[in-house]
Amino acid sequence: MKTIDLHIHTNLSDGFLSPVRVVKEAKKIGLAAIAITDHDEIAGNEPAVLEGERLGMEVIPGMEISVDLDGRPAHMLGYFIDYRNPELIASIRLLQGYRRKRNPQIFRRLHQLGLMVTEQEVKEISGGNYIGRPHIAQALVDRGYVHSTAQAFEKYLGNGAPAYVQKQRFSAQQGIEVIRRAGGLAVLAHPFSLGAESEAELSTIVEHLKRMGLGGIEVFCSPHLEEQTELYLRLANNFNLLVTGGTDFHGEWKPHVQLGVGKGNLQIPYSLLEKMKKVHLAKYKLSASEVNF
Ligand SMILES: [Zn+2]
Ligand SMILES: [Zn+2]
Repeated sequence: MKTIDLHIHTNLSDGFLSPVRVVKEAKKIGLAAIAITDHDEIAGNEPAVLEGERLGMEVIPGMEISVDLDGRPAHMLGYFIDYRNPELIASIRLLQGYRRKRNPQIFRRLHQLGLMVTEQEVKEISGGNYIGRPHIAQALVDRGYVHSTAQAFEKYLGNGAPAYVQKQRFSAQQGIEVIRRAGGLAVLAHPFSLGAESEAELSTIVEHLKRMGLGGIEVFCSPHLEEQTELYLRLANNFNLLVTGGTDFHGEWKPHVQLGVGKGNLQIPYSLLEKMKKVHLAKYKLSASEVNF
């Protein structure tokens, strides 16, 4: 069976491999198509698409942004985006600014807790301009404050922990609009992060998002338990939303998740991408010039 991985982070956000390396690895393990979905970053798409053309690997332009849905944090994936769209580029710059504003606050809190990590050492760990929490977590490990990055999140950096700082986000409506105005398909990533407590509650949220223009749900993803996958599939079918899947691969920053297979058992069929293309591209791309989203 031809398989795909539509949720991949590179070293332009908090992944480990460069976009070009991701394409090479995907080709090596025989994936039929991938999407690069960096947080608040679209610059990995062009090199990946070019490398894909060179190697004969289908690369779908993508992104992942954090949004706020009435106080709940959610991640929104965008697929088939036009990464040269000026409005999209401006929105990405804005989101990157929100992130940059957050980091000094995280460092201040860590210092107040007696944890002396510096922005400079974290920058060296990330190897680039993007500093995300996984990089800060690694610095805490390197300094011996914690045993693992997972422990760093649990004790200090995760939602609700003492050094957690909420980042300014787009609203869900804004996030979906940004994606759609760049010709993209907006997909709710790993729905469990919404923290809904029942199927009915999640169903209401999905219905609400669909009215805002949501086009799909990430049904298959490494952290999903079997019953979650079934639930998300049921919701996608109920609301006539597209089904997508990806590993949320971060390379060595999340070593238990492998490209293409997640924790070892994911197999995301190419047929999902075919349906995404058929439904989305027919609906939006062809009429993009006339449709006023
Ligand atoms: Zn995510
Ligand atoms: Zn992700």
